[in-house]
Amino acid sequence: MGLAEITQRVRAAEQAAGRAEGSVTLIAVSKVQPLDRVVAVLEAGHRVFGENYVQEAAGKWPGLRARFGPVAVHMIGPLQTNKARLAVDLFDAVHTVDRPSLAQKLAALAQSRGACPKLFVQVNTGKEPQKAGVLPGDLAGFLADCRTMDLPINGLMCIPPEAEDATPHFAMLAAMASDHGLTSLSMGMSSDFEAAIAHGATHIRVGSAIFGARNYPPRAG
Ligand SMILES: *Cc1c(COP(=O)(O)O)cnc(C)c1O
Repeated sequence: MGLAEITQRVRAAEQAAGRAEGSVTLIAVSKVQPLDRVVAVLEAGHRVFGENYVQEAAGKWPGLRARFGPVAVHMIGPLQTNKARLAVDLFDAVHTVDRPSLAQKLAALAQSRGACPKLFVQVNTGKEPQKAGVLPGDLAGFLADCRTMDLPINGLMCIPPEAEDATPHFAMLAAMASDHGLTSLSMGMSSDFEAAIAHGATHIRVGSAIFGARNYPPRAG
């Protein structure tokens, strides 16, 4: 696979769903990939990436941005509250707003900076106990809390349970976003991004299908 093929499949899926070309943002998930693979994708002209670990991203992207110019980097991994400040300086979007303490911290940072990354609330659509995310039944209350804090939420994100068909989870997330007037939907990975696009994904997070398998163990932090 690789970037060219995935880009082509994204265009085909947009067309099949009757959606405008370019309505889906392809986030190339570069976590724990060797730097030469990331550089190759940058050299091919791609400018939207995803990372899971603040520390890893902080070590990688300032240098790559100095070399390649503006690159949008999206935080798609769990965010510790004590790393929120570093995260808002580094990332253009955070897909994993999942609890009041983090929302409060981000709201305070947004106030003092006068700007805020694009924010997605992560929803635990499969109600998996080990997984992060707001439970579907708690979403309305959480979004109301964010409004009270003046924290702008742009969309919803989900990671469906691994062993299940992702399609009902995509449909559920799309319905919840529509109920709440949210226009951005972060859903779909290497194995299911076409189904996600059919269900209205605006942001897909594709790692291994672009870069190849991740051979390196994830780093903490
Ligand atoms: C790693 C990761 C991805 C990319 O997964 P692939 O299967 O390699 O496409 C997408 N979303 C999240 C939240 C991830 O952690």
